[in-house]
Amino acid sequence: MSATSMEQLVSLCKRRGFVFQDSEIYGGLKGTYDFGPLGIELKKNIRDAWWRAMVYERDDIEGLECSHLSHHLVWKYSGHESTFSDPLCDCKKCKARIRADHIQDGKCPECGSTDLTEPRPFMLMMKTNIGPVDDGSSFAYLRPETAQGSYLNFKNVLVSTARKLPFGICQHGKSFRNEITPRNFLFRQREFEQAEMQYFVKPGTDIEWWNKWKEIRRQWWIDQGIPENKLRFKDHEQLAHYAKCATDIEYEFPWGFDEVEGIHDRQDFDLGSHTKNQSKFDIQANVMKNTDSTTELSYLDVFDGNKTYIPYVVETAMGLDRAFVVLMMDAFTQEQLPNGTERIVLKLKKHLAPVKVAVIPLKRNNPEIMKMAHDIKDSLLKTGIGRVMLEDSGNVGKAYRRHDEIGTPLCITVDFDSIEQSPATVTLRNRDTMEQERIEVAKLADYLKDFFR
Ligand code: ATP
Repeated sequence: MSATSMEQLVSLCKRRGFVFQDSEIYGGLKGTYDFGPLGIELKKNIRDAWWRAMVYERDDIEGLECSHLSHHLVWKYSGHESTFSDPLCDCKKCKARIRADHIQDGKCPECGSTDLTEPRPFMLMMKTNIGPVDDGSSFAYLRPETAQGSYLNFKNVLVSTARKLPFGICQHGKSFRNEITPRNFLFRQREFEQAEMQYFVKPGTDIEWWNKWKEIRRQWWIDQGIPENKLRFKDHEQLAHYAKCATDIEYEFPWGFDEVEGIHDRQDFDLGSHTKNQSKFDIQANVMKNTDSTTELSYLDVFDGNKTYIPYVVETAMGLDRAFVVLMMDAFTQEQLPNGTERIVLKLKKHLAPVKVAVIPLKRNNPEIMKMAHDIKDSLLKTGIGRVMLEDSGNVGKAYRRHDEIGTPLCITVDFDSIEQSPATVTLRNRDTMEQERIEVAKLADYLKDFFR
């Protein structure tokens, strides 16, 4: 059974150190969160699983990392400056600001008043000043998506890697949106991480690739442990300014199906728009006419009569923080045990688990047991399976409970028999079955390498 409410998840995240409210001691900053010791491990593992599937396991995709700040003209020509807004209403009674499409039955969700202003567009991009002069002219936008950086570098990647179409550029990193109503924990924040891929194709093959990418991405979610019946596609009825066709992969949250990833056919909207606005040299004045784009983002197709054209783009755009929520929610399990007690266990797939193995010394004041536990931890770390943790809180029962809750697939307990008997053995406990077995210390590394393969 997965988590039935966001509250269950938020509570686990705080209790066990996955996620904390940002600026908590000052009352918190709405729509921003900090990732704790286990949260960063889980997020890294999700990011790695995505990168592995999208870059390492394919031969047609390269990686890229762009700046969070970018020239304001990028966002002018991308269309964001004029269109990236949500309709906003004000409640005249309680002064709440509400996204018009979140208003049900014409009532303010905060106080129930029907005295609302007409919807007006609210710009979602965040602006910041750059440089020492604050005269309003030297500003930059914090990027609201990673995609534009991949378009601007299309030529750089194409030339430096000697790629041919079709090929893709993957990028993950922070994006910023001044969301009117951040809500549902990490689901809708003002600062969040995206994992996006732009796939450049020959015009006319875009729909075929859009369909292929829908299936590839759906399968990725299934490979991370999400049951098929909790996923669905939802085609966009209202298309974004750049899209020809778009679908969302939705997951069944406790509040219903909602978006976790978008697959968009952006055609040549972005590359074309940046290209159309490239600089022109004014011969008479002997100056560049403007400071707009200087590069034609086109492609010379040597396999098609040396034609030059602007490639079409199919985009897959996932929110890493939303993936974090989905994977934790789905793994969250409350189990009734035969002895009448209950346990919470996070049944994450092994490759996603923040801690792979916990080594638990039975007595932390016994130097021999402690030394063996340290030695085992050090030797297992060398196997490359991921984080191995020494758990010397001093109470084995509590340690098992803690590691069930954070999803550690295996616990190893070092006890008196371990140091007294030869060959040395330890207890190995499995998170899901709770079965325990004795295993020789000398055989541990091979066992674990096999288990985590
Ligand atoms: P929504 O309709 O939920 O506002 P969107 O359609 O604007 O999302 P995209 O621009 O397609 O989203 O962004 C791609 C992905 O980035 C989304 O599927 C989502 O997982 C993630 N994402 C977008 N906005 C946020 C946000 N405010 N907080 C967390 N993740 C987000």
